[in-house]
Amino acid sequence: MFGPTVILLGVGVLLNPAARAEATCLPGTSLVVGPVPDSLTATTRNGETITLSRQQLTHAATIITAGSQIEGINHRGVTIALMAALTESGLRMLSNTGTYPESGEYPNDGDGSDHDSLGLFQMRPQSGWGTVADLMDPTYQTRAFYGGPGGPNYPSPRGLLDIPGWEQMDPGEAAQAVEVSAYPDRYRNYQPVAETILSTLTRPSSSGDGGAGVMPETSRVLFPLPEGTWVKTSDFGPRIHPITGQQSVHTGTDYAASDGTPIYAVADGRVTTAEFSGGYGGLIVIDHTVAGQRVATAYAHMWETGIHVQAGDTVTAGQHIGDVGSSGNSTGPHLHLEVRPGGPGSEAIDAAAWLADHGATEHEGGDNGAGPGCAPGADAGTPEEFPGGNPDVMVDDPTSSGQITARLLHLHTQGTAAFPDSSWACYSPRPGTVSEHPLGRACDLTFGNTIGQAATGPALDAGWAVTNWMKTNAETLGVEYLIWQNQIWSLARDTEGWRPYEHGTDVTTRHDDHLHVTVRSGS
Ligand SMILES: [Zn+2]
Ligand SMILES: [Zn+2]
Repeated sequence: MFGPTVILLGVGVLLNPAARAEATCLPGTSLVVGPVPDSLTATTRNGETITLSRQQLTHAATIITAGSQIEGINHRGVTIALMAALTESGLRMLSNTGTYPESGEYPNDGDGSDHDSLGLFQMRPQSGWGTVADLMDPTYQTRAFYGGPGGPNYPSPRGLLDIPGWEQMDPGEAAQAVEVSAYPDRYRNYQPVAETILSTLTRPSSSGDGGAGVMPETSRVLFPLPEGTWVKTSDFGPRIHPITGQQSVHTGTDYAASDGTPIYAVADGRVTTAEFSGGYGGLIVIDHTVAGQRVATAYAHMWETGIHVQAGDTVTAGQHIGDVGSSGNSTGPHLHLEVRPGGPGSEAIDAAAWLADHGATEHEGGDNGAGPGCAPGADAGTPEEFPGGNPDVMVDDPTSSGQITARLLHLHTQGTAAFPDSSWACYSPRPGTVSEHPLGRACDLTFGNTIGQAATGPALDAGWAVTNWMKTNAETLGVEYLIWQNQIWSLARDTEGWRPYEHGTDVTTRHDDHLHVTVRSGS
């Protein structure tokens, strides 16, 4: 599927491994094609209803995917190409055996007879578009239509990118400029059909919307790369493309980092896309709720082996989801990060500014900290089930001279095995307060800090590792609720995710210094 342009870029990287990473990312809306439906019905501008077959939609998918791999082709460019192919051939690969008998030997969807025209875009060998063999290849025709410096016919016949000012033209006029036809209205008639095809075929796969629908509120927002491992090389917004010199819009922020540097999920969420294709190369998209708002984040250019999650996976902030690579339209190892408030199909905003607005500040330089995904116990496995018997029977508390329930002792045993560096204090009398500590159903944990001293740095990372482990395994461990970093999470209200803790007034009551965990009573 990769065109010659991308292959040449790959060679360039091999010859010059020290090249400073520069991103060449996709402008406009995501052009990642999802499952192709068996049919699609749409209405033309003239009010005619047409139904497209799976075969026609497969050609449309080729046009969208090829466009996604060509620098400078955006949502508008793909729409124009779909309008042209709908008008010229009805999205069919037409042979023309009257003029070229051999054209019938290539896979086709029927025979046409217009001059010496062939294929999806009805390109003519006699006009210099290509040989019969070239033009009976839908991908070749599509690349010829888009044109540009990487196109097969550059600079003539002109493709869309070779038409000066095509982005400012009416789409019908732009289509007819490439096709050298006198009838822009013919193309305009198919604009609504082209738009329906594009939105349907690039709709995020339904697998990501399965289950609960709305994601629970995230615990926190984090920077996606370990401190001290990266350099920001390209900001969000308009830029001059480093290779083509053309003006384009950069929909993400680029962070150059060594090949293999871990990439972390910036927030709790669910993976909607994890795939290896198109201009993004490796692509992970995650759906989140942050401050009550739906938002999608996207991470691009990992190698195929550097994608560590699958669509449908639930992830936590700081989880190691992939490794920095240089696949797709990329000239050196970097993370291209996108943020789209509203979900994967919405417009991108400045990812770096969004991270800063949500407290995930960029830490450059400093030590090469392991980062949240490498916090102690981040890979702690699944705990054992409660062994059986009465979970409410009182037993000796290993952390005090008091007694705790058998359920809490089980949590303590599993927790200290998985996180040997955590410090636990469970039973305490607490006269005059409402708490499960005197009932033997709660523990307070610290992580190398002391009570009264907010957890920061490695202590904060370690605290989150334990907290996420308890939350993920709450059912098995009998965890009823958690309080940590002025937030509360309870199993009964899991669909809401983390909620603000309303009672904190100082470091300790805000639980900035310790994790409080309560286990349930009963079985
Ligand atoms: Zn980028
Ligand atoms: Zn407590």
